[in-house]
Amino acid sequence: AQLANQIAAGEVVERPASVVKELVENSIDAGARSIEVLIDRGGHKRILVRDDGCGVSEQDLTLALSRHATSKLSTQDDLEHIHTLGFRGEALASISSVSRLTLTSRPQDQDKAWQAQASGRDMGVNVTPAAHPVGTSVEVLDLFFNTPARRKFLRSEKTEFTHIDELLKRLALSHYDITIKVTHNGKLLRQYRGAKTPEQYARRVAAVIGKRFIEQSWAIDNQHQNLRLWGWLGTPQAACASTEQQYFYVNGRVIRDKLILHAIRQSFAQFIDDKLYPSFVLYLELPTEQVDVNVHPTKHEVRFHQARLIHDYIQKVLNEVIQPHFE
Ligand code: ADP
Ligand code: MG
Repeated sequence: AQLANQIAAGEVVERPASVVKELVENSIDAGARSIEVLIDRGGHKRILVRDDGCGVSEQDLTLALSRHATSKLSTQDDLEHIHTLGFRGEALASISSVSRLTLTSRPQDQDKAWQAQASGRDMGVNVTPAAHPVGTSVEVLDLFFNTPARRKFLRSEKTEFTHIDELLKRLALSHYDITIKVTHNGKLLRQYRGAKTPEQYARRVAAVIGKRFIEQSWAIDNQHQNLRLWGWLGTPQAACASTEQQYFYVNGRVIRDKLILHAIRQSFAQFIDDKLYPSFVLYLELPTEQVDVNVHPTKHEVRFHQARLIHDYIQKVLNEVIQPHFE
């Protein structure tokens, strides 16, 4: 089982940021209102994600660390209607096969907390009583300590932290209602406050990618049949030399998709220098059965059932926003 988990880990756990991604997505799936991410030494040394979500019961702790144990899917039909972020049930097992992982949790309806630790080669799980408020903490120490080949690929602390930071920005822009705090080497670096009103949304976008972007962008909100596109589109002045300020979400999920980037670039083509990249924070919402998210384990890609239609819809909506400014 250990070997199978380490192989699976190769797919899911590339670097500290991929661990953070899986843990934070679990916290989101657990309904957390507040998530704290504590990182030491770029995540090489320690990654701790703490949430105030629904928690895991004592009986389910062992299961949570087992491969293909997910509490989120029960039928094939569920697979076609994925609303939660995690669904493969292998993240925790994979991560714990290449690190020292501890999961501590207290479910909402209980007054005791329990802690689970995967141990030894056969991946047995030790469960012991612990102290913890309602919610869950997952601590990952010494990532890749037992897989020297992967450890070699870790970059500097700074680079690894930059990946984590970028990932959390992407998550912060998809879950406005959740407060996210990020600490690196004991220093609180980011604090994204939960947002509900449009003003708070804009403030959060400013906190994540900068005031300048919000000041130099157009707000978008378009609904057409069962498609909706909303968010902020940077004016040509907000274009920049990197893809840093490009955030696109499909049904709340962070996406990097060629088709979508193409549609956006097309709508801007006449207005910005082709050495610059448009900036945007955009959200596409469509019925879940029109998009396949189960394409790749790291889940950045999607497949639209009507790709052409989606492409043209995006281009049309953006053009309608851009054109009037150049007439
Ligand atoms: P998946 O997210 O695909 O179900 P994971 O390996 O990431 O698989 O997690 C396994 C299970 O552990 C989840 O299905 C969930 O029941 C439980 N779990 C993990 N993290 C949390 C958390 N932060 N809060 C509550 N439950 C959690
Ligand atoms: Mg998960």
